[in-house]
Amino acid sequence: MTTPVVVAIDGPAGSGKSSVSKAVAIALGYDYLDTGAAYRAVAWHVQSQGVDANDADAVRSAVRDLDLTFTPDAEKFAVHVGATDVTEAIRTPAVTALVSAVSRVPEVREFLNQRFRQCMAETRRPGIVVEGRDITTVVAPDAAARILLTADESVRMERRGLEVPPQSRDELTRLVRDRDVADARVSDFMTAADGVMTIDSTNLTFDQTVDVVVSHTRSATT
Ligand code: C5P
Repeated sequence: MTTPVVVAIDGPAGSGKSSVSKAVAIALGYDYLDTGAAYRAVAWHVQSQGVDANDADAVRSAVRDLDLTFTPDAEKFAVHVGATDVTEAIRTPAVTALVSAVSRVPEVREFLNQRFRQCMAETRRPGIVVEGRDITTVVAPDAAARILLTADESVRMERRGLEVPPQSRDELTRLVRDRDVADARVSDFMTAADGVMTIDSTNLTFDQTVDVVVSHTRSATT
């Protein structure tokens, strides 16, 4: 069996990572792994167990035997905790508010990184698109294509804002900004590491952004 091609995509909240990564995976016939969804699933579990997300020891214990599984498919990506499908539940504001605290616990990162690498190795398709904050640097530094997807903050907020009513937009800007600041303490996802290609989507349409990632991957793998 040949080793699957890995396309690693990092970027801040609202950069369009998830939708671009899914479209790239579909265009290339690859699997898709949303690592943020895995961190969210841990936060969901911590919340549902009534564990304090800021108590690192309690989070560590809660994650120790966590039964977490992914369906790494761009068209029907899913995350399960045990038998519970949490794919929708991990998107609530309550889970989003806990996720940065949970993801700064080193044991949580080690536990998930191992699961991500296992998922990448077991891919049945010719490749897998993996998106997150530290994929190009920590999870898959040897990936065939390594991309940092960015956009100006105002554009990121505007794209996110389309998903919520106008009266909550200021609040949304504050929440996204706070989450980026908290996450940046753990991984530097605003500066491209050596060998990582920055794609700034500020002035690109969605389709143009997908095309740039697909062409870069094709040229990196042929
Ligand atoms: O990508 P998304 O916004 O769903 O990620 C949710 C959270 O998961 C981030 O705010 C961050 O705290 C964490 N995360 C991480 N490392 C990754 C992916 C996500 O710490 N590779």
